[in-house]
Amino acid sequence: MNRNKREKEYYSIDVGDSTFMVLKRYQNLRPIGSGAQGIVCSAYDHNLERNVAIKKLSRPFQNQTHAKRAYRELVLMKCVNHKNIIGLLNVFTPQKTLEEFQDVYLVMELMDANLCQVIQMELDHERLSYLLYQMLCGIKHLHSAGIIHRDLKPSNIVVKSDCTLKILDFGLARTAATGLLMTPYVVTRYYRAPEVILGMGYQANVDVWSVGCIMAEMVRGSVLFPGTDHIDQWNKVIEQLGTPSQEFLMKLNQSVRTYVENRPRYAGYSFEKLFPDVLFPADSEHNKLKASQARDLLSKMLVIDASKRISVDEALQHPYINVWYDPTEVEAPPPMITDKQLDEREHTVEEWKELIYKEVLDWEERTKNGVIRGQPASIVTQYSSRRVLISCSAMTLFSFAISL
Ligand code: AMP
Repeated sequence: MNRNKREKEYYSIDVGDSTFMVLKRYQNLRPIGSGAQGIVCSAYDHNLERNVAIKKLSRPFQNQTHAKRAYRELVLMKCVNHKNIIGLLNVFTPQKTLEEFQDVYLVMELMDANLCQVIQMELDHERLSYLLYQMLCGIKHLHSAGIIHRDLKPSNIVVKSDCTLKILDFGLARTAATGLLMTPYVVTRYYRAPEVILGMGYQANVDVWSVGCIMAEMVRGSVLFPGTDHIDQWNKVIEQLGTPSQEFLMKLNQSVRTYVENRPRYAGYSFEKLFPDVLFPADSEHNKLKASQARDLLSKMLVIDASKRISVDEALQHPYINVWYDPTEVEAPPPMITDKQLDEREHTVEEWKELIYKEVLDWEERTKNGVIRGQPASIVTQYSSRRVLISCSAMTLFSFAISL
């Protein structure tokens, strides 16, 4: 495309401390959030005639960590298409050549709030179990493509007022180092499983631990294991759940085992003590049953030893969750990941720059004829007939605007 034509398609607007240079089809930009990668805005898309979210990745190739994450996110978002994973609607860069290349803009479906904001609300069992069911569906779908998240947290899960939920990111690359002996840097670790904190091997049910922590927080209204740093994170776990068995300690490598064995010993608390009846809505026989089912699910997810923790499939079959079971959501065909070396890649900044630039051009090429991926808004808000039977009407999560 010639340079003048391309320049005319974009305009620049200041949002917070950042300047967004976006296609003219996107108007009314308003900041709605920020994460490690940059600022996210809501906008109105005049082509699709709907509101969208736009995330700006500023110089995503600036260092290894940023580049790997941006590239992985871009490749995976292009491949994955599931109602509980955020859908990519568009990708663009306003720069015209590889030499000038600076920023990538990801256009996604717009949701209403992240889960941090929902945790403060008093949820009934219907809403709580439906949100958990959707988290598990999204996680199962990622697992079916070989993507194990390992870093699920409320800020990376978004919801709409109709109680639908989507996971925003794809977590840690297989090669990302995480363990106790890593230098601390500022990230939220409250939801990370013991095997991640302790730098052990892990399986798919590493993500079930995070769901357990998120569920616990929704029930309690406060963070379950609020570690102040990566070492304190482990202390918070054992103070509440108790020092794990010798069998578990034997699975640790020598230096970590020495540290863990030298901690004070804790007996831990029963799940009745950790999650007493008063935390749950319990005004009817139905609610009493649901509270005991919820507690039972928590006790099976929050198990330090992963070999004794339930799997995602078992969680989906649990009585608290399986009321929502719909095979089209749970057993959706796995996405095909095109880049098999995605997690192993190591590149120089210049190579990353080119790889990311090529991914953006590839998207532009593939969508040139107006083909857009992602679910139309009407499908996202549909309820299955069984679900309508359960809730009688479309379920709402909140009817007021949440200020972000
Ligand atoms: P991220 O940079 O992906 O970590 O996102 C940072 C924050 O921006 C999230 O915690 C959400 O509050 C918000 N956010 C990101 N993407 C969306 C979206 N598609 N819809 C609504 N809010 C979003």
